[in-house]
Amino acid sequence: MKQIKEERTLVLVKPDGVMRGLTGEVIKRIERRGLKVVALKMVQVDRKHLEDHFPKEDSWMERLGEKGLKTFAEYKIDPKEHMGTDDKKQIGKIVKDSLFEYMTSGPIVALVIEGIHAIDMVRKLAGNTLPVFAEMGTVRGDFSVDSPAVANVEKRAIKNIMHASETPEEAANEIDLWFDKDEIHDYQRAEQSVAFDA
Ligand code: ADP
Ligand code: MG
Repeated sequence: MKQIKEERTLVLVKPDGVMRGLTGEVIKRIERRGLKVVALKMVQVDRKHLEDHFPKEDSWMERLGEKGLKTFAEYKIDPKEHMGTDDKKQIGKIVKDSLFEYMTSGPIVALVIEGIHAIDMVRKLAGNTLPVFAEMGTVRGDFSVDSPAVANVEKRAIKNIMHASETPEEAANEIDLWFDKDEIHDYQRAEQSVAFDA
């Protein structure tokens, strides 16, 4: 039980989120859900740091390409005409490059969030990776309209305000990468005993 209550995830307010003044908005939505901020800092990262942050497997890069291709199909856009290829690996490579450019374009606010099912809860409140498909009421659905249909053609990454770990393994690795142990804090949220303790 304690383990579920203390699940941790890494959240990043990406450079567009910081520059648009949405840091507080993201944190507010996390806190009001009952999840706890246990670490917080603003950092400017380099490409090396991002190499360690994003998955190294080819399958992840292909997934980036797939997400773009699905949008092209949905809106009847010809990837070959606009990107010169319809190969998910090729498109994934272009997306990865632009993603690194995007993530180094300004400071990032990094947070460790702790709480019940923190990983899934934060993913849920972030919304779909592609804002064009994100539900209203999610951060990406409320504050962005970006789509691969324009981003991929412009050879830039999707600007979607925040990052959130996808799996327990990803969360553990990312928290290790972004924070030293002594930067992560332990305290009680005041409402905990009323909201979700026995
Ligand atoms: P998520 O951030 O939802 O976990 P991914 O891990 O698949 O999504 O992708 C990492 C980031 O790469 C996304 O948040 C987004 O900024 C960017 N991205 C993903 N797919 C595409 C795409 N098809 N075109 C442009 N950028 C993309
Ligand atoms: Mg991801």
